Amino acid sequence: MERPVRVAVVGSGPSGMYAADALTSQDDVSVSVDIIDRLPTPFGLVRYGVAPDHLSIRSVRDTLDKVLDKPGVRFIGNVEIGRDLSLEQLRACYDAIILTYGASRDRALGIPGEHLPGSIAATDLVNWYTGHPDVAPDAFAGFLAGARSVAVIGVGNVAVDVTRVLSKAPDEIEHTDMPEHVFAALRSSGIGDVHVIGRRGPAQATWTTKELRELGELEETQVVVEEGADVSDPASVAAIGSDKAVARNVAVIQEWSLRERDARRRSIHLHFRCRPVEILGEDRVEGLVVERTELDEEGQAHGTGETHVIPVDGVIRSVGYRGTTIPGVPFDTRRNVIPNVDGRVVDGEQIVPGLYVAGWIKRGPTGIIGTNKKDAVQTVGCLLEDAADPAFRTATAPEEPSVDAVLVGVEVVDVAGWRRIDAAERARGESAGRERTTIHDRADLLGSARG
Ligand code: NAP
Repeated sequence: MERPVRVAVVGSGPSGMYAADALTSQDDVSVSVDIIDRLPTPFGLVRYGVAPDHLSIRSVRDTLDKVLDKPGVRFIGNVEIGRDLSLEQLRACYDAIILTYGASRDRALGIPGEHLPGSIAATDLVNWYTGHPDVAPDAFAGFLAGARSVAVIGVGNVAVDVTRVLSKAPDEIEHTDMPEHVFAALRSSGIGDVHVIGRRGPAQATWTTKELRELGELEETQVVVEEGADVSDPASVAAIGSDKAVARNVAVIQEWSLRERDARRRSIHLHFRCRPVEILGEDRVEGLVVERTELDEEGQAHGTGETHVIPVDGVIRSVGYRGTTIPGVPFDTRRNVIPNVDGRVVDGEQIVPGLYVAGWIKRGPTGIIGTNKKDAVQTVGCLLEDAADPAFRTATAPEEPSVDAVLVGVEVVDVAGWRRIDAAERARGESAGRERTTIHDRADLLGSARG
């Protein structure tokens, strides 16, 4: 009997898990799947991206977790391509590789003062409050304790998440799985004002209505619409008329703009048509200079030359994620994705045999978790089609060396190790009256995996 097609999925976020699921949910081609992740824990952005207080979205991990128990699927955690395993070694061990490692870096603003102390990337802050082992547990305690007024640049869902987490009262978040020291830092946060900065108008914001509305439902924090919320320009009128989601977002902002200011101790200030041009400060952030913009017929922002300063002592840059390259894999440096046709990696016009992509590194950092399912299924469809060729197995993967032989000496976390981490997190949560408490420190994660 022919051996199964051996597939490595690199990255265990939603797209990787959906790809593994699709590969093992069909009977036409026999497959074995190794899901490799550089972290000791699976689920990528479901664990380290989805906001801790969005419990129903985070519960997707229970669905993804079931994939790890499927016959023919293995989890190989704590293994990084380029550190523990080269792409060449990976190619030798598998017939096909699906790269699903996402887009984990922040995009740059490219303005003076961007790298001053007190100017931070939302991606780092999110990693910290979700307990990502790459970010030190004490990384942002000083930022939260020292800042009184911060700007969040960008009007997407990550900006909304960060704004909400910083603006919630302690009793609105204490049921979540954030690490204990994160709760402590949030409890002692001095931030009273969060200024959310959109360079275009309310009709061009990329947040979704459900998430946006949550900002208006906080216990201790009011929303104030400060400037630039007019939607009478032709591009906004057209967007509202043609897109119900845009119309709903605009209606929420318009309702907020009619609200009276109240006595709550914290405020979220919404600024539209404000393009950040400089972060002020000598040795730390002292203000944000923004330039008023106008929108053209396409809804693109153009500076008017009129500037003003928003008084902030912290800046959180939330202007999107960015994919990075793996040596030896083609990369589109303009879009920060791996060039592909329907998930088959291409180098110029040529398909690279046995190499596939899914998720954010395939199409860019857009869409909700569910978007990755369709995306992964498309890629897997191409792989299975290619696997019908008898040359598919022998050409790219000899029987030996198997990846286990290559990884001798590396502390691999397998599914049993992950289950022990999971149990340890549940036990820690239980002792604090929560469902789970995330273990932040990498050594602690590895210790828990050992049991
Ligand atoms: P995003 O939706 O692309 O938002 C990025 C924001 O940054 C936009 O408002 C963009 O404005 C702005 N921006 C970009 N460059 C800028 C610049 N130079 N100056 C000022 N503003 C700039 O990205 P995201 O918020 O990082 O979210 C990534 C993806 O994850 C999205 O698909 C999002 O929906 C998803 N997500 C979903 C949830 C959820 O479902 N609850 C939660 C988090 C994230 P322009 O439009 O003008 O470029």
